[in-house]
Amino acid sequence: MHNTVGLYLHIPFCDAKCVYCDFYSAPADPDTKAAYTAALCRELERWVREGQLQFDTVYLGGGTPTLLGDDNLKTLLAAVLPHTASNAEITCEANPASALESTLRVLADGGVNRVSFGLQSCHANELAALGRRHTAADFSKAVHAANTVGIARISADVMLGIPQQTHQSLEQTLQFVLSHPIQHVSAYLLKLEDGTPLAKSPPPLPDEDTVCDLYLHTCDTLRSAGLQRYEISNFAVSGQESRHNLRYWQCREYLGLGPAAHSFLNGRRFYLPRDLQAFVTAPQYTDDGAGGDTEEKMMLGLRLADGIDRRMLPDPAAAERLCKGGLLASDGNRIWLTDRGALVSNAVITDLICS
Ligand code: SF4
Repeated sequence: MHNTVGLYLHIPFCDAKCVYCDFYSAPADPDTKAAYTAALCRELERWVREGQLQFDTVYLGGGTPTLLGDDNLKTLLAAVLPHTASNAEITCEANPASALESTLRVLADGGVNRVSFGLQSCHANELAALGRRHTAADFSKAVHAANTVGIARISADVMLGIPQQTHQSLEQTLQFVLSHPIQHVSAYLLKLEDGTPLAKSPPPLPDEDTVCDLYLHTCDTLRSAGLQRYEISNFAVSGQESRHNLRYWQCREYLGLGPAAHSFLNGRRFYLPRDLQAFVTAPQYTDDGAGGDTEEKMMLGLRLADGIDRRMLPDPAAAERLCKGGLLASDGNRIWLTDRGALVSNAVITDLICS
């Protein structure tokens, strides 16, 4: 009897660091990449054997998974595939600059059926402000190559609140994305993460009101194009939602492998340290307590457009006030964040859960 869960594999390699990024990733030589691939495969086999695990969603994230190298990707996917359910969603993140057709073919042959490209913007000045090294033309080539090798499910990341971004430049980025065969968009607000070069010497950024307008405009534009907002920052054509990421918000279990990866398995949350060498030598997991209690389910469920049942709330009347203020909407017992509510989701969720 299998325990069917999700699988996240962290690929912690990037050619160079983008100025806003605090994910665990760094440049690496071929020997390090090969040793890391072997360690991932070892750890995966151990968990599968001991936990009788099977995966119905798999997500290769990073870092830049496409920088692992074609041979290592083949090895890794060959280790994963025998443990996936027959209809598994297998996603790989890819940087448009390194998503060559040959690499995408390796992914497709290895079972990857969904790819997520980090576009962020179609404008050279905005990409330069983020320290990104790809171009809009790289993205178009990468999307075309994915389609050529038979990967039809494609997502694009777009960033809001980039230095120099305007209403007009965002509109151009959204229309650029929509001119490609894309069924899913993740639109994240730029955050100044502690310790990053961008946070240490921030350039002038769009002010808060502008960022709110950019987000609301994104919701309207994508909705008009048939991509519904199904989570605070995620939009999809119906049926094309990320099944793997839905797993996180629906509080369902997953195994995460690699430095800085988090897991929720057998009712416990645990994580690995941000240390590649430690993972290659002897992975040590740190327990992070029990997961999946009602409060966590409410916090995560409120991120989804489906929302939650208001009867879960400690004080269901609290929702009334927020509905009147236009931050929540309701239909019977179901409540969910409006677009305006999604902009202040942390405050709304805290208000609902702590009242
Ligand atoms: S490519 Fe992605 S993971 Fe790598 S540094 Fe840039 S934003 Fe971070």
